[in-house]
Amino acid sequence: MKNIDWSSLGFGYTKTDYNVRCHYRNGAWGTLEISTDETLSIHMSSTCLHYGQEAFEGLKAFRGKDGKIRVFRGEENARRMISSAERVMMQAPPAALFMEAVNKAIRLNEEFVPPYESGASLYIRPLLIGVGPQMGVAPAREYLFIVFVAPVGPYFKAGFKPVKAMLERVYDRAAPNGTGHVKVGGNYAAGMLSTHEAHEKGYALAIFLDAKEKKYIDECGPANFFGIKNNTYITPAARTILPSITNDSLMTLAEHLGMTVERRKIPLEELPTFEEAGGCGTAAVISPVSAIDDPTTGQSIAIGAPDKAGPWSTRLYNDLRAIQYGDAPDPFHWISFAE
Ligand SMILES: *Cc1c(COP(=O)(O)O)cnc(C)c1O
Repeated sequence: MKNIDWSSLGFGYTKTDYNVRCHYRNGAWGTLEISTDETLSIHMSSTCLHYGQEAFEGLKAFRGKDGKIRVFRGEENARRMISSAERVMMQAPPAALFMEAVNKAIRLNEEFVPPYESGASLYIRPLLIGVGPQMGVAPAREYLFIVFVAPVGPYFKAGFKPVKAMLERVYDRAAPNGTGHVKVGGNYAAGMLSTHEAHEKGYALAIFLDAKEKKYIDECGPANFFGIKNNTYITPAARTILPSITNDSLMTLAEHLGMTVERRKIPLEELPTFEEAGGCGTAAVISPVSAIDDPTTGQSIAIGAPDKAGPWSTRLYNDLRAIQYGDAPDPFHWISFAE
């Protein structure tokens, strides 16, 4: 294994040895190429640079106690990249090619997969971009699919602690029939200012409202939202929300634990009734939220204890992590091995 101080890793880019690339040209995907180059040379008129023909994915691999490297629900990421590509008129790598590239990138960088004890993991970033000379607004004829990886630290260094969130009252991240449900860079560009302003005011998250009526909870910039009350896991359903694989997994686990799961609109007025709330996504699994502040009214909604994650959130977090690291059985067949 590489000589890395695994415990000091945060969530960021670390150089590894290899990345994997594949070109789509003349109507077909080529073969996987192995590269040691961290940079790309692409045409300055590429559609990804001008017209946002870009989609990405994020997933993780975990080293278990047995030394085996487990990939969490990669097929779901492959499927999601296909739906993202369709929405912004890109050619998508078929699921088999996607998984082959992911597994190859992991195997080539095996020494960067953190040891079990560290609580760290290998983050995998598949990226799809439209390339080639093209000035007019139209889909590119050529595409580049890349998979690179980086070891990332355990998200909660100081333990699984709640954070404060801010309601975003000014900006929208996604239009009602726009691209909110697909993982494209444009959504992140639209949401970056909100997250930045929230951070500046001391909040960990900005929570977006539905763009049309401003009455319902949508999602956070890079994470879905959920609330828990009366043994019920409730998460917003809307076309503008990115279908989080973590959220889907938490819903499955919640049902398995005997909770009721509801996917429906969450009106703002319902927030004070939650016993627990959180954001969920690959990076942190769950970010428990103990307070949601509304900058327009000055109202602060407290949810659960300010300094301790609620019992259901803690249970769901631990159960999901146990499956990811191979500490618990995998009854839902979420794990594949990078072989
Ligand atoms: C990627 C992403 C998430 C989290 O999805 P996971 O599959 O759980 O990592 C949530 N919201 C948005 C907007 C995202 O882009």
